[in-house]
Amino acid sequence: MAETGSEIVYLDNNATTRVAPEVLEAMLPFLADRYGNPSSMYRFGGTVRRHVERAREHVAALIGADADEIVFTSCGSESDNMALKGFCRKHRGLHPRIITSAVEHPAVRNTARFLRDDMGGLELAELPVDGEGMITPEVLDNQHIGPHTLVSMMWANNETGVVFPIREMAEKVKERGGIFHTDAVQAAGKVPINVKEVPLDMLALSGHKLHAPKGIGAAWFRRGADIAPLIHGGHQEGGYRAGTENVPYIIGLGRACELAMERLDEENTRVRALRDRLERELLAKCTGAKLNGHPGRRLPNTTNISFENIEGEAILLHLDEAGIAASSGSACTTGSLEPSHVMMAMGIPYNYAHSSIRFSFSVYNRDSDVELTVLAMPGIVDKLRSLSPFV
Ligand SMILES: *Cc1c(COP(=O)(O)O)cnc(C)c1O
Repeated sequence: MAETGSEIVYLDNNATTRVAPEVLEAMLPFLADRYGNPSSMYRFGGTVRRHVERAREHVAALIGADADEIVFTSCGSESDNMALKGFCRKHRGLHPRIITSAVEHPAVRNTARFLRDDMGGLELAELPVDGEGMITPEVLDNQHIGPHTLVSMMWANNETGVVFPIREMAEKVKERGGIFHTDAVQAAGKVPINVKEVPLDMLALSGHKLHAPKGIGAAWFRRGADIAPLIHGGHQEGGYRAGTENVPYIIGLGRACELAMERLDEENTRVRALRDRLERELLAKCTGAKLNGHPGRRLPNTTNISFENIEGEAILLHLDEAGIAASSGSACTTGSLEPSHVMMAMGIPYNYAHSSIRFSFSVYNRDSDVELTVLAMPGIVDKLRSLSPFV
């Protein structure tokens, strides 16, 4: 069975991505002889600090931010935790309120639920999406929003790729004095993001979703944002996040963001065309196939398709036999018997929700990946359907 990336058809890029060779190359010197501490006074540390600051500029550039608004973290989950918990600590005793969507990644969803249970008096609202996984900005209209309200809405959904109307929602929240956070982990590098054009306060991104390694992320806070740190200690990262900087990974994230900027066009042309072709052919050639999520307002790399009455896990095992890696819903819920909370929130019927498969592309995918998958899937679907207890 295929165990290395060069042997498999890898269509699970929303779960994690390969480290770009350019990223690895940029990192290596900082794992070898450039090991100085960026906070040191001597030049051996000072040069390292300059590289860290250049990486910060590249991360900022990807989202139209200023470099001094970027805080390096250990992952996307930490960035989300920092925003939600940092907000709550500052608004403790002031009747804080968190408003999210019903389809957030567990990094936001479970953090918000933890805070609701942990902080007496914190109100939490999880707003519904429609059958296509889309939210309408108007759902905010009958919510109480004030200076102690944090609205956290993901830019793009990891399971369906649906892109939320972030600008319209952020504008509504800012008009009423609220604070707006977005989990942009899936959006960064796939669709243009410019925090100068959207009235956001906080944003989270993660390295391993855009060809940097696992274990590095970034949080963006608009200058002046009143956020308590999650990790206290030294003065690193402007006091927002203590701990000696993870220099090699920061360098890697910077290089990955630089590459993502250069590859944004390819993502939206060639990668989008691969995704569209796979989607078109699977919907045409597999019986009982149905697209999940808004067909238009979606990331260019993601398609999520249900195959009526078939167990998604069974499809994945057969795909794995064929050397193809895809995913059912989110990697974080794989192994549980419940359909994903995203499919449930969309009201997808049980016999479809259980059979949803996500195929997610990156710039490293080729035409042959689509061809092999299109070749394998109809047979897998027919075989499993003939065994299905539902029919
Ligand atoms: C992967 C992901 C995260 C978590 O990022 P990690 O770096 O794995 O902690 C958060 N939000 C979304 C939408 C994601 O896809």
